[in-house]
Amino acid sequence: DEDAALLAGGFDDGTSEDALRQNPVLAIVGRPNVGKSTLVNRILGRREAVVEDTPGVTRDRVQYTAHWNGRDFTLVDTGGWERDARGIHLRVAEQAEIAVEMADAVLLVVDAMVGITASDEAIVRMLRRIKKPVILVGNKVDDLVQEAEAATLWGLGLGEPYPVSAVHGRGVADMLDKVMDVLPEFSAVAGVERTGGPRRIALIGRPNVGKSSLLNKLAGTDRVVVDNVAGTTRDPVDELIELGGRTWRFVDTAGIRRRQHMAQGADFYASLRTQTALEKAEVAVVLLAVDEILSEQDVRILQLAIESGRALVLAFNKWDLLDDERRKYLEREIEQDLAHVYWAPRVNISAKTGWHKDRLVPALDLALENWDRRIPTGRLNAFLGELVSEHPHPVRGGKQPRILFGTQASSRPPKFVLFTTGFLDPGYRRFITRRLRETFGFEGTPIEVSMRVRE
Ligand code: GDP
Ligand code: GDP
Repeated sequence: DEDAALLAGGFDDGTSEDALRQNPVLAIVGRPNVGKSTLVNRILGRREAVVEDTPGVTRDRVQYTAHWNGRDFTLVDTGGWERDARGIHLRVAEQAEIAVEMADAVLLVVDAMVGITASDEAIVRMLRRIKKPVILVGNKVDDLVQEAEAATLWGLGLGEPYPVSAVHGRGVADMLDKVMDVLPEFSAVAGVERTGGPRRIALIGRPNVGKSSLLNKLAGTDRVVVDNVAGTTRDPVDELIELGGRTWRFVDTAGIRRRQHMAQGADFYASLRTQTALEKAEVAVVLLAVDEILSEQDVRILQLAIESGRALVLAFNKWDLLDDERRKYLEREIEQDLAHVYWAPRVNISAKTGWHKDRLVPALDLALENWDRRIPTGRLNAFLGELVSEHPHPVRGGKQPRILFGTQASSRPPKFVLFTTGFLDPGYRRFITRRLRETFGFEGTPIEVSMRVRE
């Protein structure tokens, strides 16, 4: 039964696992005046203009929650993106590119009465490179007669154009049905959602590192409630524990407390449980035991935590067992095997005695704060400008790729996109990542830097 529960998605109380997932994101792109704002209003079911045509008004992004057929999705409108925070005029294709970067699918709006223009074609080229599902919409098809005009949009090579009239609503339902077909249930690109309530911690680590001991020590008499969902007969899965005067949610503690010893496939189930817990959490505490050699399993679990994109704290447990001899080796192990997570805060603890258990909260706070962080576009570009002028990209074959500008596409965890004139060397990208960390901190959070080469 337990195995079946694990395979069916883990120890879930039916609410928590999906709670941190974001609605899928649909970006609406197209050149000015094709009717994007009108279409946004139509989809949202309102009449007033969403985008005010006030010159000089700048917005980093314009997002709305939309509904269709009982499903929610996020609509990203690029109408207000004529200028970025520094007042630099972005090309239409670049604006679209930022939006597409943050989206699961794209609605490309073309003016069917005008037909295909060079701007439309530039956007299509960009969409081809990025490889996200695209729905082509021919707007301003106000009546049946005009539908024939929309057929010319096949010429863009994006398949069937959907003829709509954003003003009259014609064809919009069919278009939205198609949108729902291509959007995933949850977003694959948006960061983890900020939910209300206590921060969520996944306490993970291989068997016997001390997870249940630590949980007992932390919960102690301060354990607030064993969280249960009314009306279900299922096991409680999470525990609410008060630390540092605040309540935290330790997710999937049932998996820790119900000590399982499966003869076969124990590794498989352990990693499945680890992944389930990470899915539900905002921050991972990876527990390592200092009295034993860092094992492959330790490293694998740590890797799962990093790949999950959650905030990360390393806790070195069983410090009371550390002698001088072992300590020497431990330091070497940390240097060799944990070099790639130099950015994660470390705490040395003893779950048995409770030594240093109060050091966990500051580390968790630091990691979560950085995980949540968003660097304003202006500040990011000031940083990039300085970095590039001090350390320009090396010249390769007579060419020197330049960074035009960058933006933080999402947080939780922070993800950055750089727009460049050519491919950046992997070494140079690592350099930028390191500098980002040095300048902005980001202790305790993975960060991602990707690039988009401008044609
Ligand atoms: P955006 O710049 O792409 O956001 O375009 P807008 O939504 O501001 O629309 C540009 C112009 O096209 C406005 O004058 C709209 O009234 C007009 N427009 C938008 N959709 C339609 C449509 O379906 N039919 C017609 N005839 N005009 C439209
Ligand atoms: P889990 O499998 O990760 O939940 O590990 P347990 O909490 O069950 O701990 C495994 C063993 O390590 C138990 O015998 C614990 O008493 C012991 N242990 C856990 N933490 C410490 C610690 O900080 N110091 C010492 N000396 N022993 C510990």
